[in-house]
Amino acid sequence: MRILAKGLTYTYNPKSPFASQALKGVDISIDEGEFFGIIGHTGSGKSTFLQHLNALIRLTGGFLKVGEYDLSDKKCNFLELRSKVGMVFQYPEYQLFAETVEKDVMFGLKNFRKDMSDEEMKAAVKEAIETVDLDYEEIKDKSPFELSGGQKRRVAIAGVIVTKPEVLILDEPAAGLDPLGKKEIMDLLHAIHGGWCKTIVFVSHDMDEIAENCTRAAVFSDGRVVMEDTPAEIFKRSDELISLGLDIPVTAKCARILKERGIEIETDFTSEDFIAKVLAAYAAKAGA
Ligand code: ADP
Ligand code: MG
Repeated sequence: MRILAKGLTYTYNPKSPFASQALKGVDISIDEGEFFGIIGHTGSGKSTFLQHLNALIRLTGGFLKVGEYDLSDKKCNFLELRSKVGMVFQYPEYQLFAETVEKDVMFGLKNFRKDMSDEEMKAAVKEAIETVDLDYEEIKDKSPFELSGGQKRRVAIAGVIVTKPEVLILDEPAAGLDPLGKKEIMDLLHAIHGGWCKTIVFVSHDMDEIAENCTRAAVFSDGRVVMEDTPAEIFKRSDELISLGLDIPVTAKCARILKERGIEIETDFTSEDFIAKVLAAYAAKAGA
């Protein structure tokens, strides 16, 4: 399912003194199969945009299509759309509520898959828990509140992927986790991407994560998309990113320092490519 937004606008509390225009005309096109990153400073409209994608926020201005679902059409089948577009909120562990992990993960399934038998549901829950790399037998009867932070986050993600959504949207899935926890989340996303989950869209503040993982990314600023490209092209524009108050990957920082010293490195900003190019430049210099 391709995601296409044109001129998307959204205002919180319209016609009130507290009106705040969060989206000022978002244009974006995300192809099926992408591993798509969204970056931008706090308040730039990232979360508001994401919540439009499964109609948690109803469209009020502009155009938005997700696959064949036209979200500007009042007759759009939103329930069906939500079964295909899974949404993992920021800090999703705060929404765990059931007595046991198994019941919590099953909750989402009960909403969407009224056709499944209890046995089928249990099997799906087991598969989802194993997909997020937790031990089903060990964890299924525990209270979600007994788990560690990283485990809770993964249980919450299991509760979304249990329906096997074709498009998975995640709002800062790695926020607040330590480096190992962050890596586990990225590994998990790669593990499911390309199977039943065709497209992944996620928000991140970690530019290295974007450089290393994404097919393409969009930069949000003040309710608009100001860049939409491959990480290689986006991080070439490091001056602009810095002037928007954004960070850049470590590889881009190193490339800037090398440039000041007269060494130009053409890289896609993944660490592997960067090191290969630096070594090639070094070998060329040593040869000369
Ligand atoms: P981001 O996810 O990039 O931090 P958001 O989409 O959360 O950005 O917010 C965009 C703008 O909308 C901000 O100015 C924010 O203050 C405002 N906003 C977000 N949520 C609400 C809300 N529930 N009520 C009023 N204003 C909001
Ligand atoms: Mg946000």
